[in-house]
Amino acid sequence: MSVDRLLFPRPDTDRVSVERVPVGETCPHCASTHVARYPVANHLGPRMVVKCQDCFTHLSVTRPAPEDHWPAWRSPTRDWAPSRLG
Ligand SMILES: [Zn+2]
Repeated sequence: MSVDRLLFPRPDTDRVSVERVPVGETCPHCASTHVARYPVANHLGPRMVVKCQDCFTHLSVTRPAPEDHWPAWRSPTRDWAPSRLG
């Protein structure tokens, strides 16, 4: 956790989007090689997904690692051990 997770500049573009990083895998459903990894916010909370971009089949859904910087507004105390009071 660093300060850049807490203070980030105002976006300088008209639209804000996430980068969909190609992972070089093949979709097991449609055999497409257009598979990408990117952050999402779904009913489980913030997650990193690897999805086929042609048929949207999920190849994996994982919790974000610190290097994923997702979500950007994550609490600075998130990684702290809980106290006996909870
Ligand atoms: Zn597919």
